[in-house]
Amino acid sequence: MPTFAFQPNPTPSVAIVGREERFPVRRIICVGRNYAAHAREMGKDPDREPPFFFYKPADALVDDGAKVPYPPLTANLHYEIELVVAVGASGANVDKSDALRHVFGYAVGIDLTRRDLQIAARDLGRPWDWGKGFDHSAPCGPIASPDQVGHPGRGRIWLAVNGEIRQDSDLSELIWSVPDIISIASQSVRLMPGDLIYTGTPAGVGPVVAGDRITGGVAGVGDLAIEIVQP
Ligand code: MN
Repeated sequence: MPTFAFQPNPTPSVAIVGREERFPVRRIICVGRNYAAHAREMGKDPDREPPFFFYKPADALVDDGAKVPYPPLTANLHYEIELVVAVGASGANVDKSDALRHVFGYAVGIDLTRRDLQIAARDLGRPWDWGKGFDHSAPCGPIASPDQVGHPGRGRIWLAVNGEIRQDSDLSELIWSVPDIISIASQSVRLMPGDLIYTGTPAGVGPVVAGDRITGGVAGVGDLAIEIVQP
């Protein structure tokens, strides 16, 4: 072990259903435009071109129940409910038929997005990072194992703001399935235990403000609730 010039930051982690131990997180990989109706609401044609990816920093994670301070630089903070895949085994060039063996479990996450910054970057051909990868931008609920929840290929995925349903779709609407995503992502980077994959959001994204309570879930996987608060 090297010695460090100062105490390293704590390892980001996510709760695990029914266990004291937490899931130590290495990277957060996110999939863009993976539901056709959401691609359309963002002004893009859904297609079967290969999926594209972006990262959030692992230290952007916050737990179920978190109070999330309204972030700086934005006047248009959006929610995106997503199925999250936790990777439990390393693999590069994983075959689709083998992909589910790399799954540690599943959780419900929200890909918080500074939409104004993201759209401005997109339209200028610049990276999305500042729109997507800010502090507290990755709420994630506890991870349930395949023994507990199987490998969900269908099931309601929904989000509500102050009790009012805003996103309401089904995992079967994913353009690229979990095995597709694991296989394709692993062609670009080696997946490692501790990686999380946010698999994309259905239609109905929209803004929230300080004081809003966001709840969401994936049937058979779990629920998540956060509150947006004044910074
Ligand atoms: Mn997203």
